[in-house]
Amino acid sequence: MSWFKRESNGTKNPPGEASTHTVRTEGLWLKCEGCREIIWKKDLEATLNTCGKCGHHFRMDARARLAMLFDDGNYEELDEGLESSDPLGFVDSKPYRDRLKATQEATSLKDALISGMGKLAGRPVHICAMEPKFIGGSMGAVMGEKITRAVERSIEFRAPLIIVSASGGARMQEGAVSLMQMAKVSSALMRLDESHLPYISVLTDPTTGGVTASFAMLGDLNIGEPGALIGFAGPRVIEQSIRQKLPEGFQRSEFLLKHGMLDAVVPRAEMKAYIARALDFLAGPVADPSAREAA
Ligand SMILES: [Zn+2]
Repeated sequence: MSWFKRESNGTKNPPGEASTHTVRTEGLWLKCEGCREIIWKKDLEATLNTCGKCGHHFRMDARARLAMLFDDGNYEELDEGLESSDPLGFVDSKPYRDRLKATQEATSLKDALISGMGKLAGRPVHICAMEPKFIGGSMGAVMGEKITRAVERSIEFRAPLIIVSASGGARMQEGAVSLMQMAKVSSALMRLDESHLPYISVLTDPTTGGVTASFAMLGDLNIGEPGALIGFAGPRVIEQSIRQKLPEGFQRSEFLLKHGMLDAVVPRAEMKAYIARALDFLAGPVADPSAREAA
């Protein structure tokens, strides 16, 4: 049994053995955060990154998300060359410029969002998906600009817009510039609304900070994935400020649905069909129904 190792010294730590050390999986296997079962990673591909036993939704990268939503996984990627200019010359534990470069190399992306146009169940749509592995899916000037352009393109082509969020919020390294994206995207979405085009927001684990506080909560429909952490400040920060224990399930999709902050919680396997039905309702049936059969 060599699936597990202690991060500190690399010694073996078989499944089920109690340990005070942080454990992590090596390569092929991982432990489900929901039911603690051991899952073969290959099995996850067939179940769209959800646990076959308990239904726990693991995070999904932006490319897999778009492949899942667009018909046959086909789409045209747009504005892929946009990258941050490091407007503040920011340095934390290392220069932002270096952090960006390393992340770009690790993810093969220029920033934390992929924007694409294609068809969903036969209907032309614009979908933006965030990449949680790119500096926590954080929102900087590039994300704001890409979404704004997506809105403008949606208006131009009369195509509904879908944004799949997975973000820790505003990107600290871009300071006020990243905060300004909240207003920029929100006002662009107002123009989309005035053009009578639907915008569906899909909130996945995690959707927090400035993303929640702006466009992620502005959808004509706000749909959460099961068990996703969705909030503004994190639970620990809130607990420390109000000095109260938070209720069970606080800031999870199901809790937000119950309290009227979300319109629906939809399992990943049903998400595409759900969005297709919602768009039929919001924007009328697809003009060419044969396209849907093909899809
Ligand atoms: Zn599980």
